[in-house]
Amino acid sequence: CGIVGYVGPRPSQDILLAGLARLEYRGYDSAGIAVIDEAGSLNMRKKAGKLQMLRDSLADAALADGSTGIGHTRWATHGGPTDANAHPHLADDDKLALIHNGIIENFAALRAELEAEGVTFRSETDTEVAAALVGREYRRTGDLKEAFRAVVNRLEGAFTLLAVHQDEPGLVVAARRNSPLVIGLGDGENFLGSDVAAFVEHTRRALAIGQDQIVAITPSEVTVTDFAGAAVTPEPFDVSWDA
Ligand code: GLU
Repeated sequence: CGIVGYVGPRPSQDILLAGLARLEYRGYDSAGIAVIDEAGSLNMRKKAGKLQMLRDSLADAALADGSTGIGHTRWATHGGPTDANAHPHLADDDKLALIHNGIIENFAALRAELEAEGVTFRSETDTEVAAALVGREYRRTGDLKEAFRAVVNRLEGAFTLLAVHQDEPGLVVAARRNSPLVIGLGDGENFLGSDVAAFVEHTRRALAIGQDQIVAITPSEVTVTDFAGAAVTPEPFDVSWDA
């Protein structure tokens, strides 16, 4: 229900948690984060319940921090509000973490296809199917943007998707269809959010993303394409001071 992404020079955990706190007004039942640490490992923590449950868990057992990260608050549609169903979801090789707002309507057919290939699922969500599909395409292409392009065209429904892959630190890739996504432009760092509240304390410069577009952010670059891969120039806007 709420989404935040960060790439830059700073440790991302506090930025993600603060962004999720600013999105709490939207309502949610679970929360989670995934970060790529300095050693290039993907670290994830997710908890059913309030954001405070996630904060408590991180206080009890710290998660190695890193400067590439994604955070999510969930409003369950497929599978109850449990730790396992909370986002992020990992691809079956545990190298990719993905978060999702919305509903993937054809997830059952996609899940059956993946299960026939031997993929086992760890949640009841529609989302984990997208994680497994992007992970599979990444193994073919070695390129997260290309993997997204191959997968989003197969998904029906409404989605904002964000993913990080441990072999591509410093990169967050996202896609949107019938679900909101905005980019926040920082100085040597960039942000993604389901709305500007996710990053408003860091930057007032934003880019609007149109329907059926894929976004890639690094600390110094933002690229946007349509689902076919053609370059798109996103529309800049300034976040008003009372946002
Ligand atoms: N459909 C997904 C789920 O149930 C995402 C829900 C959301 O938008 O938070 O996990």
